[in-house]
Amino acid sequence: MLTPGKTNKVCQSCGLWKGCHSPFMESSGAEEPRILVVGEAPGEDEDRQGIPFVGKSGQLLRTVLDGAFGLDDVRFTNIVRCRPKDNKITKKAVESCSRFAIDDISIYNPEIVLLMGNSPLSGVLGQIGISRWNGVIVNKDDRKYMPLYHPAFILRDTSHMDEWLEAIISIDD
Ligand code: URA
Repeated sequence: MLTPGKTNKVCQSCGLWKGCHSPFMESSGAEEPRILVVGEAPGEDEDRQGIPFVGKSGQLLRTVLDGAFGLDDVRFTNIVRCRPKDNKITKKAVESCSRFAIDDISIYNPEIVLLMGNSPLSGVLGQIGISRWNGVIVNKDDRKYMPLYHPAFILRDTSHMDEWLEAIISIDD
């Protein structure tokens, strides 16, 4: 079933929608967010529940953001809105889908945008190399953008956990 959401229209550009339980996944969270999180793409748990960042890595991120800022001020979205086959995010999907996250940024007008991983770094800021960009604040269009390692990477390689937490906490410095 194709159901357009509030901010994202039905889109058939990259074809991923065909294999999804929850295609064109809407952003979710605070209606007037101070912080907008842009992730990579829905995983299996997110696709099943229709909500971004509800799986294992999402729970880690939500816990950290709740402690640092309070979840009442946070909204979640993804740079690719349909679950990618085999969790492989293609350049084509990022290029055709980024416009929806960019629309979310203008619609919800957050003070801070967190870019979790390489795909949102490239789709929103046009940059590559998350390890060079982790924790760097980019001031653009009266907003702070901060690229960060994806929480799934932090769960796989906990040696970056401290650096990641320090970067998140530094946003309010
Ligand atoms: N990882 C993401 O980048 N986004 C989600 O919604 C879930 C996991």
